[in-house]
Amino acid sequence: MVDMLRLDDAKRVLKQYYAGAQMDSPNGGFLMLLGIRPNEGGTALGLLECSVSSLRYEIEIPKATKTERKKVKDVLDAGDDPHCPRHGPGMRLFRAGKNLVCDSCGVAYARV
Ligand SMILES: [Zn+2]
Repeated sequence: MVDMLRLDDAKRVLKQYYAGAQMDSPNGGFLMLLGIRPNEGGTALGLLECSVSSLRYEIEIPKATKTERKKVKDVLDAGDDPHCPRHGPGMRLFRAGKNLVCDSCGVAYARV
């Protein structure tokens, strides 16, 4: 396995990622998403590759906050299909085992 680099400005990149925007690479160019790996405990790891240098980065995607969980639960309680609190409408959560997970961030937002 290739060594993964850590992103220094993970927060900014995450913001761009959630917004569906192009993610700036620290080496110029932009970051392409290679994949998302859900972790135990609700966080996820995003694998990114720089379009210019081909360096690979990993970014930790934080687990669902209390507020996000509540938002999703309220929608569930109302009998509706919840979407990802970070990706917004259009990104439905899907069932993975006992969890409701966003396909794009790999984070579990509720238990079903
Ligand atoms: Zn998401």
